[in-house]
Amino acid sequence: MNFYSTNSPSVHVPFKEAVFNSLPQDRGLYMPVSIPQLDADFIQNIAKYSLPEIAFKVAKTLLTDAIPETDLKAIIDDAINFAAPVVKLEENIYVLELFHGPSLAFKDFGARFMSRVMSYFLKDGEKMLDVLVATSGDTGGAVALGFLGVPNTRVTILYPKGKVSPIQELQLTTNGKNIRAVEVDGTFDDCQALVKQAFTDNELNAQFRLTSANSINIARLIPQTFYYFNAYAQLLREGKTDVTFSVPSGNFGNIGAGLLAWKLGLPVKQFIAATNANDTVPAFLRSGVYEPKPSVQTLSNAMDVGNPSNWVRIDEMFKGDMAELKKLITGVSYTDDQTVKALEDAFTAYNYIECPHTAIAWRALKDWKAQHPEDKSAGVFLATAHPCKFPEVFNAEMESKIVVPEQVKELEGKLHVVAALGSDFAGFKWYLMNNA
Ligand SMILES: *Cc1c(COP(=O)(O)O)cnc(C)c1O
Repeated sequence: MNFYSTNSPSVHVPFKEAVFNSLPQDRGLYMPVSIPQLDADFIQNIAKYSLPEIAFKVAKTLLTDAIPETDLKAIIDDAINFAAPVVKLEENIYVLELFHGPSLAFKDFGARFMSRVMSYFLKDGEKMLDVLVATSGDTGGAVALGFLGVPNTRVTILYPKGKVSPIQELQLTTNGKNIRAVEVDGTFDDCQALVKQAFTDNELNAQFRLTSANSINIARLIPQTFYYFNAYAQLLREGKTDVTFSVPSGNFGNIGAGLLAWKLGLPVKQFIAATNANDTVPAFLRSGVYEPKPSVQTLSNAMDVGNPSNWVRIDEMFKGDMAELKKLITGVSYTDDQTVKALEDAFTAYNYIECPHTAIAWRALKDWKAQHPEDKSAGVFLATAHPCKFPEVFNAEMESKIVVPEQVKELEGKLHVVAALGSDFAGFKWYLMNNA
């Protein structure tokens, strides 16, 4: 399977090139040249398979000829080594828990798969790979832990100063080895702009072998399809065949992967794109006008994205068929007050604690169900992070009930290293050139 840039559909590159370039020079995003349908037999019998088996089948469909099967299987077994359970909370309301990986967020799926693919393609003696990643919180931790200790790689993480939670900051700044953290005096969009500009800077490209680990990398998107199929498998075991997914969305990689899964043949009745005040996509679905805006800071900070990078991929999958897109995707946005109310309501209803991103998806699903009383599909909202990463949003009672995993407690005693920069490109470039 080859990949094309959304800005130059006629130019095709192999998977390896798409992974290492990440962002094509024409500033499009890579997409598979064709999206084959998984065989109907596999989908019907999917309940028989485990998550790694499903992942292998899906990956094979997109990556035949890029990575031989035995190697692909080894990569998947190493990367996808934690569970993604679907938990029933009430009739037709389920939570898909994606926070059981090392950084406690769904981004572990993408980051772990991508780092192992890159390391597989990196041969001895090749120039060191410099991964640049902008994070609004969760990407950085997942990427850092995904690449930590991987030979011949170095990761530079940029995050907006004062806009990530204490646990996230610990996950970014305590790694050492081949991981370094930079706090930028600005927003996530500023961090992303710095990374994007670095990729088009001739001098930096001459000196370093740069690559991105953001959700724009195609090797992050593909593994995120796995858990949609695996969720469907779990629901089939409960006799459910119709499913609606509610996805907390920021850069739209997660829901983009869900739509890719749908294109690959996963039967999905409805997707709900649930956002915070950064409502560029819900506004577009209402008005038909796509108007990126500067991001605003919210309690669900991993979704503070005013111009979601992955939207072009979704647009591409529908080839401008606005009617079909609007039929399959509902967009909805919530304020911070509604977010806090939602996580408190969910706690009251189920004694279940949701992170603020997850709470938005839960509320969106509940509201959609209330508006569609005839709908009998299994509603699944995606829990994208463990609540312990966002302690500041919870009241004292809830906070006391959050069980903090061991791996987080250990970070507190570790050395904390970070470089502080402004949001200007000249300063970032200087830092890269002088800290080689
Ligand atoms: C990154 C992130 C999101 C947003 O995911 P996108 O793929 O950028 O839409 C939602 N919730 C959490 C916890 C995240 O870390």
